[in-house]
Amino acid sequence: KPQIFSGVQPTGNLHLGNYLGALRKFVALQDQMDCIYCVVDMHSITAQLVHDDLKGQTRAITAAYLAAGIDPEKHIVFNQSAVPQHAELAWIFNCVARIGWMNRMTQFKDKAGKDRENASLGLLAYPSLMAADILVYRATHVPVGDDQKQHLELTRDIAMKFNLDFAKKIKEIGKGVDITVGDQPVHAYFPMVEPLIEGPAPRVMSLKDGSKKMSKSDPSDLSRINFTDDAETVARKIRKAKTDPDALPSEVDGLKGRPEADNLVGIFAALSDRTKADVLAEYGGQQFSQFKPALAELAVSVLSPISAEMRRLIAEPAHIDAVLKDGSERAGAIAEKTMKDVHEIVGLL
Ligand code: ATP
Ligand code: MG
Repeated sequence: KPQIFSGVQPTGNLHLGNYLGALRKFVALQDQMDCIYCVVDMHSITAQLVHDDLKGQTRAITAAYLAAGIDPEKHIVFNQSAVPQHAELAWIFNCVARIGWMNRMTQFKDKAGKDRENASLGLLAYPSLMAADILVYRATHVPVGDDQKQHLELTRDIAMKFNLDFAKKIKEIGKGVDITVGDQPVHAYFPMVEPLIEGPAPRVMSLKDGSKKMSKSDPSDLSRINFTDDAETVARKIRKAKTDPDALPSEVDGLKGRPEADNLVGIFAALSDRTKADVLAEYGGQQFSQFKPALAELAVSVLSPISAEMRRLIAEPAHIDAVLKDGSERAGAIAEKTMKDVHEIVGLL
């Protein structure tokens, strides 16, 4: 049975990239599958240990989940640190994964910067904790932005190595299933997860630099559109967004080699549930001075109801905490079963 898992870090203001790459998909998947949505607070201390208000940020992301339309009764909404099995399974995965696998991760290279020796060990092991987040629920599908594709490939590598290394034990306890990976038959305890990345804006780029993704942790606030920005701020940021001087092309091919134009058209398409081709059929030939106000208006119309509801929810922290507590208990019950099996498989007394 397909099972969805995904998470967002409480590292700062949610932005349009988080909405299009993650939240919007989270909401859409609810009708078809069982979903577990996590606020991954243990991840948020990997790049920066000390935060001014980590609890408040955790509540704010939870509020965003609820405001976007996630139903915490039908599905599970909780914060990672409240279910210690994530960290426990991550330790086992630290012993499954190889250092070389971690060293190849582009997110690690980006976030560690030049002084790699001085990055936290947690930042290097981030993908191992992420694999544990997903696999402690034996989830099969993970809605994420394109930037997380490499981490999901690593999750599959970890699952595969665990399944192969412990094949005999997994058979013995009778909890595995026979799958084929490529053409290789494997008796698997952990499934091979599938990323759900598709859409016209799988990687929303910075408004200031078409080669960098939009990020919560980017020091420039002008690089992103935050959920909390008012209409005027959104319009100003889009007006100031980097573009080239040419008019919009009439066909998708014309976006090649124009990363900033491609980004804005992709955002417009994703926000309005259209294809890029469809958007260009309407706006092709127009100048950015005409397209940008239309984009700003569209972004505000989608984000402002969610941010208004977020503000209302944040004013009721007791309600948010109750949602998280209930979600943690339900998630913990599933995670506990998995860890019992894992102890058995690994041979921990
Ligand atoms: P940070 O800079 O702290 O890593 P972030 O903006 O990357 O923050 P995360 O909490 O790491 O946000 O990611 C949450 C989800 O949002 C993930 O599924 C990620 O793939 C998605 N996401 C993040 N940035 C973008 C983006 N620019 N475009 C599309 N999806 C994105
Ligand atoms: Mg990130």
